[in-house]
Amino acid sequence: MRFTNLTRATEIGANSYLLELDADGGRRVVLDCGMHPKLDGEAALPNLGPALTGRLDAILVSHAHLDHIGSLPVLMRRQPDAPVFMTAPTARLGATLLHNSVNVMSKQENAGASSLLFTHRETDALTPRWRECALRQPFAWDGERLARGGEEHAATSFEWFDAGHILGSAGVLIRDGGRRIFYTGDVNFHDQTVVRAARFPDEITEPLDVLIIETTRGDQPVAPGFTRRAEEERFARALAEAFARGGAVLVPVFALGKTQEVLAMLLDFRRRGLLDPEVPIYIGGLSTKMTEIYDSFARAGEAVAPRKLPGIGLLDNVAPYVLGGRDAANAPLKPGCIYALSSGMMSEHTLSTMFARRMVSDPRHSIFFVGYADPDSIAGRLRAAQPGELVVLDEGEASAAAPGQELRATVDKFDFSAHADRESIRAWVRRVAPKKVVLVHGDPAAVRWFQETLRADLPDSEIIVPPPGVAIEL
Ligand SMILES: [Zn+2]
Ligand SMILES: [Zn+2]
Repeated sequence: MRFTNLTRATEIGANSYLLELDADGGRRVVLDCGMHPKLDGEAALPNLGPALTGRLDAILVSHAHLDHIGSLPVLMRRQPDAPVFMTAPTARLGATLLHNSVNVMSKQENAGASSLLFTHRETDALTPRWRECALRQPFAWDGERLARGGEEHAATSFEWFDAGHILGSAGVLIRDGGRRIFYTGDVNFHDQTVVRAARFPDEITEPLDVLIIETTRGDQPVAPGFTRRAEEERFARALAEAFARGGAVLVPVFALGKTQEVLAMLLDFRRRGLLDPEVPIYIGGLSTKMTEIYDSFARAGEAVAPRKLPGIGLLDNVAPYVLGGRDAANAPLKPGCIYALSSGMMSEHTLSTMFARRMVSDPRHSIFFVGYADPDSIAGRLRAAQPGELVVLDEGEASAAAPGQELRATVDKFDFSAHADRESIRAWVRRVAPKKVVLVHGDPAAVRWFQETLRADLPDSEIIVPPPGVAIEL
């Protein structure tokens, strides 16, 4: 089998990987087709060249985050006959995300950048080609369901398994002749509040031949004594202290995944008596649409959308206020309220950034981070800033005359990551003991930790960091 890393660097950017399988005439399959969250235009695309040199038999999409699905329309346009497979929630969330992405690109286009990679009309034309797959059900590459046991007879097949990262996220097991290849996508081995821990194939008793696994948190040790329960209690206490200071609380969140986890956690806090049920909660923009989709799958069941709190609709039960329309950013900022607003990394001109600008120099207010933020993003820089430091929340407006705002609000961070910590990944990989492990979706330091650690843990296995753009034999 040949594997080509289509990312442009060893990083969490535009994830995409080409597999050229052996059995059945050599199927060519692309895993994920993301867009780089920090780049614009062509530079945000994966290096699709190797995927375009011949026919493509299938595109498999692990989940609906931008860095995994964002460039899919571009690849589909160039490979019009390739079937595209994903879970049903990923299809719903992904279509919404791509339309939002068109809106973001159009704004940049209006600002003079040449970054419109596809349109609303094209997205609408392409999404009917997506084929929705149930979990734990083997499929042939033409999309036909295989009878249980049939996958062992088919020369090659694929099967999705719940990855525990966001709604719809799934890893995929590919059978290629006698070999088995597993791609995790983004994974979490611990329960979150809505999304349940990954359930990867436990029938793996024979070692996998090839494991392709994410390494996002490889550069962060788990804090000593960390438990999610204790972290939740620390977060609840911080909210109470913030309200006692007479301020508002901003929680910058990704629209997809983190918003819904935070809403469910706040609902849980209310039920446990950790949060006054009268405290108003605000969300806005894309988060609302994504939450509607989460709610629409609340009763979908194990094969489609396994989750905790089955049947609990977040919009109904949490009843958040929704900020919408052109004036959302200027909505009154009220003490005693929680604003869970996107974007999580505080991209410029997003609701979270515009609210932060109104809060950052007021010591009554608080800004609490609850997930991943690139250190170079506005969220990353604000999170690392010291009290009294000047912080710049809008690059365009910073000038010698107004070099930024003094940080006087309380800033704190809480670990509710949707990605597995490195020790839980390490433990799982040791248990599965693949013959070859391919490390992806991590910055160089994160990948290096896994490379060194797994080489020591599994001396008989090959631990591989795939160089971008180079086909390697596996
Ligand atoms: Zn993700
Ligand atoms: Zn990702």
